[in-house]
Amino acid sequence: MKHTGFEIEHCRPNCPKSSRNWHNLYEELTANLTSLNLYQTIEDKFHPVLHHHIPKICLAGCPNGCSHPNIKDFGISGYVTPQITDVPCIECNKCVLSCQEMAITWGPSGIVIDQTRCLSCGDCQRVCPSGTLTAGESGWTLRLGGRVGRHPQFAKLVGQVQTDEEVLTWVSDTITRYIENGQPQERLTHFLER
Ligand code: SF4
Ligand code: SF4
Ligand code: SF4
Repeated sequence: MKHTGFEIEHCRPNCPKSSRNWHNLYEELTANLTSLNLYQTIEDKFHPVLHHHIPKICLAGCPNGCSHPNIKDFGISGYVTPQITDVPCIECNKCVLSCQEMAITWGPSGIVIDQTRCLSCGDCQRVCPSGTLTAGESGWTLRLGGRVGRHPQFAKLVGQVQTDEEVLTWVSDTITRYIENGQPQERLTHFLER
């Protein structure tokens, strides 16, 4: 079977820690990138085509990043920000204990979330039995330019978006620019640097 010219790695299906459902995005990314016929570009640039020539995309359901978004050309990780509601807190302390970042403490009026420490992983709202904590804004954190190999580097943070459509546009536009403007023998990672 002919290679598609890209690889999409994703994290474990049905993981209870997932902040965003990545399944639809995976299907749509696959369809979009297949339609761009990226393999033709890769084949024109490299003889033979080796594994490190193929652009890599990572989809992770939450900031834990088990599928390694930090070392892929495109790193896409789900996030969900906790929101404190008006529902009375029963002071069970579960949210405080659940937070690995120690972002939740007790204040005079109840729990306080330190936004500078919070990674929007969603653990606290999942353990809250009362509904005092619920899911707030959710979306995708985008990173670009990660790689392993001779000159490894972590992907750089690009920003956050809230919809799958914005992720699709970002990936498609970037790949299209690579197809149209990449130089001979230039890998995507080096094109992104340039
Ligand atoms: S990245 Fe998050 S959702 Fe994906 S497998 Fe790891 S813990 Fe689960
Ligand atoms: S979302 Fe995660 S990091 Fe943020 S306060 Fe809740 S448990 Fe802590
Ligand atoms: S988990 Fe919910 S009910 Fe328990 S202390 Fe935290 S906010 Fe209050």
